[in-house]
Amino acid sequence: MTTNPLLERSHLPYQLPDFAALTPEHFREAYEAGAAQQLEALDTLATTTDPATVENVLHVWDTSGDLLSRTAMVFGSVKAADTTPELDDLLEEVAPKLAQHNDAIWLDRRLFDRFTELATRAQAGEVVLDAEDAWLLEDTIRRFTRAGVALDEEGQTRLRELNTRLAELQAAFSRVNREARVAGKVVVTDRAELDGLTDEEVDALATGDGEWTIELVNTTQQPIMTRLHDRGLRRRVYEASIARGLGGEHDTRQMVVDTARARAERASLLGYEHHAALSAESGCAKSTDAVDALMGPLGRASLKQAEADAVTFAERFAQLGQGDDFAAWDWAYVAEIVRGETFAFSDADVEPHLDVAKVLEATYAAAHDLYGITFTERPDLVGHTSEADVYELHNADGSPLGLFLMDFWARPTKDGGAWMTSIVRQNHLTRQLPVVTNNCNYTKGSSAISWDGVITMFHEFGHALHALFADSKYPSKSGTATPRDFVEFPSQVNEHWAWQPDRVLPADLLDKLQAARSFNQGFETLEVMAATLLDQAWHQTPLDALPRSADEVEDFERRALEFWGVASDLVPPRYRSTYFSHIWGGGYAAGYYGYTWAQVMDADAVAWFDENGGGTRENGDHFRRTLLAPGGSLDAMETYRTFRGRDPHVEPLLERLGLEL
Ligand SMILES: [Zn+2]
Repeated sequence: MTTNPLLERSHLPYQLPDFAALTPEHFREAYEAGAAQQLEALDTLATTTDPATVENVLHVWDTSGDLLSRTAMVFGSVKAADTTPELDDLLEEVAPKLAQHNDAIWLDRRLFDRFTELATRAQAGEVVLDAEDAWLLEDTIRRFTRAGVALDEEGQTRLRELNTRLAELQAAFSRVNREARVAGKVVVTDRAELDGLTDEEVDALATGDGEWTIELVNTTQQPIMTRLHDRGLRRRVYEASIARGLGGEHDTRQMVVDTARARAERASLLGYEHHAALSAESGCAKSTDAVDALMGPLGRASLKQAEADAVTFAERFAQLGQGDDFAAWDWAYVAEIVRGETFAFSDADVEPHLDVAKVLEATYAAAHDLYGITFTERPDLVGHTSEADVYELHNADGSPLGLFLMDFWARPTKDGGAWMTSIVRQNHLTRQLPVVTNNCNYTKGSSAISWDGVITMFHEFGHALHALFADSKYPSKSGTATPRDFVEFPSQVNEHWAWQPDRVLPADLLDKLQAARSFNQGFETLEVMAATLLDQAWHQTPLDALPRSADEVEDFERRALEFWGVASDLVPPRYRSTYFSHIWGGGYAAGYYGYTWAQVMDADAVAWFDENGGGTRENGDHFRRTLLAPGGSLDAMETYRTFRGRDPHVEPLLERLGLEL
């Protein structure tokens, strides 16, 4: 029997796990040992009779899950990039056990009491906390409170009932919403209606018995509508999309109402005004007032631009001879025509510049120019997949920074899209330097990628830098361990460096891309803002003011959109209430704003660079020191203020999108 490499600290450089020696059985064993080890350490924390100190509470707390989190990070990185049936089975086996494990911790009153004892002692001046101690303590007490640890027995019983009910509703919504999407497909019996699609595309829609079907996608807008010349078919596809869940066999309305009501009741049980207040508190926004203050103006500005664009598009539509009543199902179609007429370039013009290896070099070169870091290949080290390249990174002064594992290539065993993971989290408590991965899905042998692919590469490397530059005492707060409405912001800032002249593209091509960037932004921003504010409306409404029955849903939605000034017959929300799976079937309840919130900070941060001389070493070091290095170990908005000197302003994003208040 070989020893389990996960159970002891790796002696490879930077504690890189010995990937070559790992088996599924090692993961199972390490999960079990890790959970047991954590409960044992936390039991000691809870039962120690010595007065609470930073060491016997915070240090014990944050290292208690060392083995468990190491196992989860290694397992997650390997499984996402190159899974096997054994790893899939193992995930299903451990997921419910981990959920129980976490409940056991977050509902343990004894642990909570030790944290509050430490807070009391700190307040009395008996214990001195540094800034990172204070933030970990404050944040952990809030998390315990949100989990319901402070409730009496009756309250905890009701909370568990609501949690169970919400889990059932979430699963039911996901199922019925998926069924409604499938059932909403549009059947075409006359091939002429598919005019505008290529022969291959038409063939792909064929059912084999002389008919064609158009399957719906999640969003209100259906991509195929941009190219269908037949107005009647565009209308049918549109109407099928917006009618999902509104009645009939796949009615989701009562689930929407019941979910909103259960969340509101849970929030009030935990002492919050509504669910959105509870959710905002766990983000960097902190309060729904802050969310409203940034999202409201963006919504109104995008409606104004959409209304102006509607005039232009309606005029162009009238020339097409398809009618003179420009409608919601015509918007994307006409926008595509105007886009083609206004911006005379195509992907084929930029692609010769976008060799995948050169783009990666450009990503590294941008980081070198900004932060002075260097990259050395380490072919002697094995990454999380056999095709990953391992790089060792050094600071400008030659000191070691960490390892970066780059896995470029698509394989059938890999998740879709692109992402970053941590394998080892930097922290001072256990003296570790970071090991970080990036993962893409390029076809091996392909050389050119799209401009979107370039932005993705810079984006994911931005996440990597957030973890690599971490300088935190506590592992649980290191690097990207920041709130959901914050974590995308540093990676979006890194996208900006792809837009520098001659970094990837010559200046003349960049100018054209830049000009095209704000085209149709009235529509694109408005549909996102309408969904964002609809999410807020459902979750900022207290229990007694929420709808009770299914037939109130449409009216609630209409009044909410009117209240926020984002109602438009031409531009419906990106998701309507009845098929908004992010908030009813996924984890984004009252949190859909996070995407836009991060964009506001991104544009405002890029404006800071522009105001201060651009991407210089000095500016890069300022961003690294004030914002990237603290990661989640301080209040995220505090780090923003230290970096920027003030709160984020919405104007730079408006300017980028070509919108005006
Ligand atoms: Zn991201």
